[in-house]
Amino acid sequence: MAWVKFLRKPGGSLGRAYQPGSTLSLAPTKGLLNEPGQNSCFLNSAVQVLWQLDIFRRSLRVLTGHVCQGEACIFCALKTMFAQFQHSREKALPSDNVRHALAESFRDAQRFQLGLMDDAAECFENILERIHFHLVPSRDADMCTSRSCIAHQKFAMTLYEQCVCRSCGASSDPLPFTEFVRYISTTALCNEVERMLERHERFRPEMFAELLQAANTAGDYRKCPSNCGQKLKIRRVLMNCPEIVTIGLVWDSEHSDLTEDVVRNLATHLYLPGVVYLCSFFSLLFL
Ligand SMILES: [Zn+2]
Ligand SMILES: [Zn+2]
Ligand SMILES: [Zn+2]
Repeated sequence: MAWVKFLRKPGGSLGRAYQPGSTLSLAPTKGLLNEPGQNSCFLNSAVQVLWQLDIFRRSLRVLTGHVCQGEACIFCALKTMFAQFQHSREKALPSDNVRHALAESFRDAQRFQLGLMDDAAECFENILERIHFHLVPSRDADMCTSRSCIAHQKFAMTLYEQCVCRSCGASSDPLPFTEFVRYISTTALCNEVERMLERHERFRPEMFAELLQAANTAGDYRKCPSNCGQKLKIRRVLMNCPEIVTIGLVWDSEHSDLTEDVVRNLATHLYLPGVVYLCSFFSLLFL
């Protein structure tokens, strides 16, 4: 694709402009085993993401008090897995503990059962939700503000969606919601890169974030709330300050040919105000 060439150009490359910094994980790297028939790749990738996030890994390590579910306790299984990661001399470890706890925990829902393939992104989100319920079972996950809940404290983005008409000034009622992951289509992302190239825009460090934002709202037009005739883009406003912002890239087809292009050119820094609007509380942070 044309944009890959553009992005590889010295000085014009998104990948090169975003230098990896303090976000590099300090965790020792180890593999996870996936024997024939286990089909645990979805789980292993979710566990690897959690392990590599230093602030999550360290927080989980110091937490002990939780509502234990025994065989179905993902909290215990994850802590055991992380201890093995830390202390084992093996280069690759089995993820059986977490696999069994996940299968047991979701037995009634018939999800994540042993031997069956499942979705890595849904697994990642469900692990976080289960950690929430092990830590603060009494709280509604959507409204969780508990300081002891590392799932929501670290990952939850509290946003609201709203349409604001620049023509007549009308605005829709804000729709608040919480999410662990903001999903963005890789096809839409690549389309936005093509558009950017057509506009011959000068490279800016915040460009990757803006491409994600544009891809996230591509083709999503709403009617003006006062019916003035304008078509509006939805505005998503971030109201909290999550320690970890998770962007999930969605492959629109099982046979997408965009994999190499997307992976090669992922930026390593993300300019948050480029992806979502920030409520005024944050404006000072990004001046
Ligand atoms: Zn437990
Ligand atoms: Zn929580
Ligand atoms: Zn209007």
